[in-house]
Amino acid sequence: MSILKVARIAHPVLRSPAKPVPREAFRDTLFQKLIDDMRQTMYEYEGVGLAAPQVHEGLRLAVIEVPGKDERSEAEVPFLVLVNPVLTPLAEEREDGWEGCLSVPDLRGLVPRLKRLKLDALDRHGHPYSIEAQDFFARVIQHECDHLDGNVYLDRMRDMRSLTFIKEFESHLREDEE
Ligand SMILES: [Zn+2]
Repeated sequence: MSILKVARIAHPVLRSPAKPVPREAFRDTLFQKLIDDMRQTMYEYEGVGLAAPQVHEGLRLAVIEVPGKDERSEAEVPFLVLVNPVLTPLAEEREDGWEGCLSVPDLRGLVPRLKRLKLDALDRHGHPYSIEAQDFFARVIQHECDHLDGNVYLDRMRDMRSLTFIKEFESHLREDEE
């Protein structure tokens, strides 16, 4: 497995809509290796998700994993592969939450996201699945799927004044744990 180079904003790959993964890709060892490398890259940089355009691949593919110890999440999300994902809102309600991005290093901002949604996607073998997600898990799914359409979380922020460096976030904005 390899750790891949992460594209940063202003690289055109992050602003281009990604192409659907074709059926024949699932049997391609290079496609399977890309998924393993994306997983490794996500772990290396301690992200909870990574989309293919972030590693210079314009494909509708993303990986997600939220460790149980992550303070932002009420529940652990086991490693999940999203191929050609489609999102359906399950409620109108949106909620503000802090987001960061490996392609926008060192920053965080408050982003409104749907609280509940349905995800329809294919797994790494091309098998369809459908799951319902809420709160932080739903947020991560929306963040990663945005990358597939050439969007980053900065585009979704309602007020740029919440933009902060992670170091200053830790000092001034982080809600203290009990
Ligand atoms: Zn991101």
